[in-house]
Amino acid sequence: MRASVYIETLGCQMNVADTERAATRLRAAGYDLTESEETADVVLFNTCSVRAKAAQKVFTRINDVRRGRIGTGRQPLLGLLGCVAQLEGASLFDQEPALSLVAGTRATDRLPALIERALEGEGRTIDLGERVEGETWDVAMQERHSPYVAFVPIIEGCNKFCSYCIVPFSRGRERSRTALEIVEEVRRLCAEGYREVQLIGQNVNSYRPRTDDGLREFRGATPFSRLLRAVAATGMERIKFTTSFPRDFHTDIVTALDELENLCDWVHLPVQSGSDRVLKAMRRGYRVADYLKRVEAIRGARRRLALTSDIIVGFPGETAEEFEDTMRLVEQCQRIAATRISITANHARSGQWTWKISAIAAAISTPITVNAPRNAAVPSQRPRRYAARSTGRESTFTMVLPETSDDTAIDPRKSARQVRMNRHTPRVFATNEACAWCTASVSPAMPAAMTPGSEATIPPMLTTTAMMKK
Ligand code: SF4
Repeated sequence: MRASVYIETLGCQMNVADTERAATRLRAAGYDLTESEETADVVLFNTCSVRAKAAQKVFTRINDVRRGRIGTGRQPLLGLLGCVAQLEGASLFDQEPALSLVAGTRATDRLPALIERALEGEGRTIDLGERVEGETWDVAMQERHSPYVAFVPIIEGCNKFCSYCIVPFSRGRERSRTALEIVEEVRRLCAEGYREVQLIGQNVNSYRPRTDDGLREFRGATPFSRLLRAVAATGMERIKFTTSFPRDFHTDIVTALDELENLCDWVHLPVQSGSDRVLKAMRRGYRVADYLKRVEAIRGARRRLALTSDIIVGFPGETAEEFEDTMRLVEQCQRIAATRISITANHARSGQWTWKISAIAAAISTPITVNAPRNAAVPSQRPRRYAARSTGRESTFTMVLPETSDDTAIDPRKSARQVRMNRHTPRVFATNEACAWCTASVSPAMPAAMTPGSEATIPPMLTTTAMMKK
């Protein structure tokens, strides 16, 4: 038996998927994957660089691990994977002298050999290279984060270069997997008993595979809408996809959602600002009117679709009026279709912003409070109230797919019991407790007992709270 490895994942679904792949490769190479950071020979952190707080957190965690081993005479080999590793490279060894290994976002498959070199005493082992041609994406069932819901990456990287975002540098340019490969993976997941797949990528609807293989028999205006039809044809019970980029959002996606029952009723379409000038400064490549056209198309669906979005407030140079434009857009979207808006203050990377706001506006008539960041540079500081207009969902019961039957969080960072909502959002929190990691707390009335992996019906959400957290 080779060394035991503990991997901790910070950040987004792409990082979760990368960890699952890394664990698959490591186990295949004979490493023992462990849940215990106290006893592991190798401790790896899969890092996130989107928010400065997450990037900093990893150094705190390294210190925690090292402190926990004081007196044992046995410190683990420490390594960083993921976005921070890719961006900061060899300088990390100077920032944290206890580090032995730095592996970037495309080095997942080479991890077993890298660890071996580091364990043999190579010293500073580093790999920031590209994926090699023909790399496999398969993930062993035991390494998936859930036995019911699977993440399936379809595209990685980004070509958009929004002015505030680091992803094109941390994850490189867009690379799409072939449809054949994706469909084969979803078929396997069906056979293994998975109930839901989430097709993931920085911009899933920018999907452009190098070949048409696997798509030819499926019609559609874009490769992505054809892929949706191909994946739906596997018979997977529920299919979600995130994130969509507004400029590439073709209305044929709505047509596919209308046609195919196993595509869930949810579109995540981040708008980021309600001001054309700010959108231009962000280099988003669309105007508010373009975004509203997409929202209208979503509202025009025969099925009732849920829309979620992200907004950045306090973008450098944003005026009070531009902030008001964004708030007006929020109200407009809520009138049209939106069920949830996540608002992020331009964050601490600039050294100024530490407030993150998340506002959830469920499609019920409960008022939602959105607090503007308490920062002098943000134009509007007074709490704002929005009545989330009803779309009729208050009379609807919602089917959920529980992933756990007890109050133990699947994700140790989250204190709230969580289940995945079938149709309208990726996840719903089933207690009044604040989530330890994000800022949202939602409290639907839940049945006392739920069986993991089998559907349960919950009443409509009763309260929705938006909180602000430092
Ligand atoms: S499209 Fe998304 S991932 Fe790409 S640069 Fe813009 S914000 Fe970043």
